[in-house]
Amino acid sequence: MAFELPKLPYAYDALEPHYDAQTVEIHHSKHHNAYTMNFNKAVEAAGLEGKSAEEILTSLDSIPADKRTAIINHGGGYWNHNFFWESISPNGGGEAKGKLADAINAKWGSFAAFKEEFTAKAAGHFGSGWAWLVVNNSGELEIVDTHDQVCPITTGLKPLTVIDVWEHAYYLKYKNVRPEWITAWWNVADWDKAEERFNAV
Ligand code: MN
Repeated sequence: MAFELPKLPYAYDALEPHYDAQTVEIHHSKHHNAYTMNFNKAVEAAGLEGKSAEEILTSLDSIPADKRTAIINHGGGYWNHNFFWESISPNGGGEAKGKLADAINAKWGSFAAFKEEFTAKAAGHFGSGWAWLVVNNSGELEIVDTHDQVCPITTGLKPLTVIDVWEHAYYLKYKNVRPEWITAWWNVADWDKAEERFNAV
C-alpha cells in the first residue's frame, strides 16, 4: 500500500487569520502531496515497499547510498508535514500544560523563556528547514533545527512540536518576514497534542 497524503484534521480556512487558507491549501495539496508522491517513487526504487515511514526513516543506514538521499528528502518531507499539520490546530495557542509545562519550566525556568529560545531558533535557521521541540537521546527537552527535510526521528529524537520555516510555509501571506509567521504559529500551536506526545515518550 503506497503512502497517501493524509486529510487535514481541519478545513483549509480553519487556521485563519494566523495561517491563511490559500497557503494551507497549497502547502498541503501541492507541496505535501509532491513529497508523498516522490516518497512512493523513492520507496519503490529502494525496494522498501510495505515498510512504515517510521521503519524506513529510522534505518537509513540500511538503504543503499544511491537511494538514500531521495528517501531523506521525500520521506522526511512526507513525515515532517504529517507531523506539522497535527502540531497546529484551530483550538491551539496559549501555553503548554500539565507534565510538559512542568518539564519546560524545569528546563527553561518559564514558558516565556522557552518561547523566546524556540522563536530565536526558528527565526535564525538559515535557509529551508524546521525548528522542533524534542525529547533528546538523554531524555531531556531540547530545541533543535533540521535542514531541508531532515527528520528528527532519523537520529532517535522524539519530536513534540514543530514549525516549518521553509519559505513555502509562509511566503504568500508573510512574504520575507519570517518572524511574523513565527508569531502567528504560536497562536495555532497545539499544546494538548505536544503534551500527549510527551506523555507517550
Ligand atoms: Mn512545508
